[in-house]
Amino acid sequence: MPKPLALVTRMDAATEAIWKDALSEALPEETLMAFREMTPQQRDAAEMAIVANPDPAQVAQLPNIAWIHSLWAGVERLVAELGADAPPIVRLVDPELARVMAEAVLAWTYYLHRDMPAYRKSQQAGQWAPRDYRHPRDITVGLLGLGELGRAAAGRLQAAGFDVIGWSRREATLEGAKTFCGEDGLVQVLAASDILVCLLPLTGETRGLLDARRLAQMKHGAAIVNFARGPIIVDADLIAALDAGRLSHAVLDVFEQEPLPAVSPFWAHPAVTVLPHISGPTDRFTAAGIVAANIRRWRQTGELPKTIDRSAGY
Ligand code: NAP
Repeated sequence: MPKPLALVTRMDAATEAIWKDALSEALPEETLMAFREMTPQQRDAAEMAIVANPDPAQVAQLPNIAWIHSLWAGVERLVAELGADAPPIVRLVDPELARVMAEAVLAWTYYLHRDMPAYRKSQQAGQWAPRDYRHPRDITVGLLGLGELGRAAAGRLQAAGFDVIGWSRREATLEGAKTFCGEDGLVQVLAASDILVCLLPLTGETRGLLDARRLAQMKHGAAIVNFARGPIIVDADLIAALDAGRLSHAVLDVFEQEPLPAVSPFWAHPAVTVLPHISGPTDRFTAAGIVAANIRRWRQTGELPKTIDRSAGY
């Protein structure tokens, strides 16, 4: 009988139980226990932990875990809260999540490309106001972040005929697309993009990245889509750019504070579409299967999947 694995989350007990069932079904050979149900001896014996934004004080009560597998793809909170001494962290990399996110990027790119915000306004004003059709090849979509999600989105956008360019931390190649990195590269992507899609992780480098200076470097009338994390964009600077008409529209799925507070100016802003963090939901069943496969491989070979680079923060 292997030693137990701990499930540590800040979910309510009922939601955690649903996850525990899905994970236990995918890992019938393991003994998975919710942290809250473990005795001190079982916590001491736990060999690894599956987590979803866990309370760091609870993780600290698992002194013998060799590694941590996050159920979420974005791990900025986990990395910040667990600190430098925590065991290696593996995040969720799920092709189904990437597919769903790429679908969302294509859907909201079409929303902007086919001028849906403008037609909504025309309808509200009772105006019959056709606009010229623009071919997707004449629309440049700039992807900030060319990771699992950015690359999947690039494929969907390219298949739909959009001109795709991308920006990443290190030099990258992407078939059929120009790619950029570094500060100069960012300036070029901002200047060239009609629609800018943010799929960056939130790190020390990306927090506040899209501030007044960078937003001013964007093409006049461009639109922005943030499906990554709220604090990458400076809210007040975005609102100022939208109010000035420098940017035409923002589709925001993620916010500094979620749920978005009722007092947020984003709710009623005519140039903002507010979404409730739905662009890339985690699929419990595919996620459980991926976590299970990673744990099984570790049991068999002792090898961990790719872990988070603490110094880069993602
Ligand atoms: P990933 O595979 O780690 O890719 C991150 C990309 O961002 C990489 O291309 C990386 O560059 C680039 N990057 C990181 N720091 C940078 C910097 N300082 N300057 C330029 N580029 C930088 O991550 P992913 O799986 O694609 O996910 C991205 C983010 O999406 C997650 O961190 C999460 O916050 C968010 N997310 C949101 C939802 C939602 O529902 N809204 C769902 C899932 C995930 P390199 O290629 O050089 O490493």
